[in-house]
Amino acid sequence: MTPLISLKGIEKIYKTGSVEFQALAGVDLDIFPGEFLAIMGPSGSGKSTLMHILGFLDIPELGRYLFNGQDITQLGELELAQIRNQVAGFVFQQYHLLPGVSAVDNVKLPMMYSPSGKPELAPALHQLELMGLRHRASHVPNELSGGERQRVGIARALINGPAILFADEPTGNLDTQSEAEIMAILEALNAKGMTIVMVTHEQEVAEHAHRIIRMRDGKIIEDQKRLMTERAETNTRASIPPFYPQRKAFFLNIGNYVRQAFQAIRAKKLRSFLSLLGVMIGVCAVITMLAIGTGAKQSIRADLSVLGANRLMIRPGLDERGGVNLGDAADSKLTIDDAAAIARLPIVKSANPQVTGRVQAVHLNNNTQTSLTGASARYGEAENWTPSSGRFFSETELNNRGRVAVLGKTAADALFPDQNPLGQSVRLNRIPFQVIGVLEPKGDSGGRDRDDVIIIPITTAMHRVLGKKNIDVIQADIKDAAQMEQGKIEIEHILRQRHLISDEVENFIRIRDLSEIQKTIEGTVNTIAILLGIVAGISLFVGGIGIMNIMLVSVTERTREIGLRKALGATRSDILNQFLIESVVVTGLGGLMGVILGELIAILVGTVTGWRTPVTLSAIGIAAGFSIAIGVVFGLWPAKQAAELNTVEALRYE
Ligand code: ADP
Repeated sequence: MTPLISLKGIEKIYKTGSVEFQALAGVDLDIFPGEFLAIMGPSGSGKSTLMHILGFLDIPELGRYLFNGQDITQLGELELAQIRNQVAGFVFQQYHLLPGVSAVDNVKLPMMYSPSGKPELAPALHQLELMGLRHRASHVPNELSGGERQRVGIARALINGPAILFADEPTGNLDTQSEAEIMAILEALNAKGMTIVMVTHEQEVAEHAHRIIRMRDGKIIEDQKRLMTERAETNTRASIPPFYPQRKAFFLNIGNYVRQAFQAIRAKKLRSFLSLLGVMIGVCAVITMLAIGTGAKQSIRADLSVLGANRLMIRPGLDERGGVNLGDAADSKLTIDDAAAIARLPIVKSANPQVTGRVQAVHLNNNTQTSLTGASARYGEAENWTPSSGRFFSETELNNRGRVAVLGKTAADALFPDQNPLGQSVRLNRIPFQVIGVLEPKGDSGGRDRDDVIIIPITTAMHRVLGKKNIDVIQADIKDAAQMEQGKIEIEHILRQRHLISDEVENFIRIRDLSEIQKTIEGTVNTIAILLGIVAGISLFVGGIGIMNIMLVSVTERTREIGLRKALGATRSDILNQFLIESVVVTGLGGLMGVILGELIAILVGTVTGWRTPVTLSAIGIAAGFSIAIGVVFGLWPAKQAAELNTVEALRYE
């Protein structure tokens, strides 16, 4: 009969620094199909080392290992992983069940690393049934007794239909009764033809086997063949088919990885939540930044387009230090006559001088702080803003500094809550005015209520109410929007003439069209967006480091799990993918929460400001891209650490 396993001159040397230790010193061993072999020996004699080599978990330095005629020492990492998965079943002293994962899911685990990559429920339940644990299928290991856990371990070892079972002190942690149960199960399996190799240091346990080898100092010192039962003698497997490694498809497995990632996250809910906070805040900042930026720009454009594209705003110049009005530099002061002169230019359609200020408006017991606009008689026409009742003031009233007022809707409602304001009197900074008109409502713009205004003749505003000698601004509309630049040149020219200012003096007046104002405001909005972007960037980076930190801790904590997975047939890339996908799932969840939070903030800001703050698909796309990228970048190193762990050392990690 050809042996299932044939070892010749196996040597294993451990190197710790410069110290070498020979754990196996030339082991020859043949194991035949259907045998039940026990390996015994004192602690440190090399039992586990031999078992690891037999179980394809470790490679000897010297010697030849034929399994079913195939030279194992020639196999690569992938093939060894598959041979472990397909050919070997492992039962451990510490059970090595995944904590927090149900019995049936533990049994399914090796199927995940099989070529199909499909963990199926039915066979797993069947195995549990054979172990008498069908009713415990949904229990997690913590809820099972030691004996039950070991039976789950055996069910897991058998799930892929192995040719040989390796049991490392399978009853080492069990009470006498559970020990008897487990040994009965192993004997029954052997009776059906399963080859079993078991490490034990208990004579009683070893006596269940048909052959006992004893080791000392890395050598087999005794090989005791006991009586085999007749049945075991005859039911040796006729032949075990040769093993051909198959390629696994990554994408077939991706669902498994994602499911496992959620299992791991659920097992550590608080920690996972805390670790995704950074990414969540970062993504939230990205979403809010994009939504508010878009909203603000849209709102500014809408406001400006109402005013018209052919408008020039003419203001006195600023001094070189910026921001401060030239004040006494009399040359730069604008007057009503300047406006009239501009209006006479053929290129200009109309030019309206304005002053503005705040006033206290009072009618009987009602009073309100509102903005006052002193305007020309043609203001309503130029702004396309007509009274809904009453009228605008006339040229005559303007020239006479008439005390007549036109109210915006909000001001009218505040002062005259339940009566018609027309013909009534209102005091502006204590000076009595007659209300002659109420303007139709214009609504909000840029967070400002445009109806909260009172309009009076500019002459009255300057001399009687605000005490201003000069006007604040001239709004000039050019006939043809294409001639804006020419309009600016002509207006500046005539003002220089009128104020006797030579061309050398710069910044004597400021003439801006709305596109410039738009550019300025959008520039500010962009600056704010960039600041938010930096906050988002820093937050994402810090979040990423947080993720990396947590993943590294997690890899250390789960070292034995990683060892187990490798023993069950996981390859390096399986482990790498698992941890990488776990990290991406965490950051992805952070991203999702960030999008939701960002959306809420955008809606809130939209409600407060009246802007449209749309969260666009592209914003969500960017956020999703960022969170996945963070997961990959910061998860890669911990995942690599996990993947590189040595199987045997990881399994033994305390
Ligand atoms: P047993 O299972 O019989 O107790 P082992 O096979 O575990 O023995 O170990 C045999 C010897 O090899 C022991 O002396 C142990 O200290 C040593 N050894 C095992 N693993 C390592 C390792 N990774 N590095 C260094 N020495 C090791």
